Amino acid sequence: MEYVRAKMDVQKRIALVAHDTMKKELIEWVKFNKGTLEKHFLCGTGTTAKLIAETVELPVRAYKSGPLGGDQQIGSRIAEGGIDLLIFFWDPLEAQPHDPDIKALLRIAVLYDIPVATNRATADFILSSPLMRMEYTRNILDYKKLMSKRTKENLLGE
Ligand code: PGA
Repeated sequence: MEYVRAKMDVQKRIALVAHDTMKKELIEWVKFNKGTLEKHFLCGTGTTAKLIAETVELPVRAYKSGPLGGDQQIGSRIAEGGIDLLIFFWDPLEAQPHDPDIKALLRIAVLYDIPVATNRATADFILSSPLMRMEYTRNILDYKKLMSKRTKENLLGE
């Protein structure tokens, strides 16, 4: 496989998402880590972003609410190279109306080699990593090269 490299700056662009039953826990985590998080750029799905902005008083760019397309918007920003980290406290005990969007977001995050925390312990490990204070280069699959190789193999039989 061939990869292209994508640089993350010292100031990370962090997306925050929490399902309704997990919002309290995410807000507590954000409050606890306010000093670290305020050094970075934050965004999130609509309700999560609004709650954080109001209760923790941190600026958070709000996308649409998750069930209304917010997870897809965040996935699209990841694909465009606009998000470096995803903190996603999803509910492991309840089905969501936008389950396909959640799956798509997690898939895109893996594809673009984005660190993803889906619970508090992982979020703690990510935030306390020395890499949070450094530049970092991610490896993204060079899909253009892969496609042209596949096209040649499939269509031209090379
Ligand atoms: P919300 O969306 O922050 O707008 O509630 C989160 C989600 O359910 O994906």
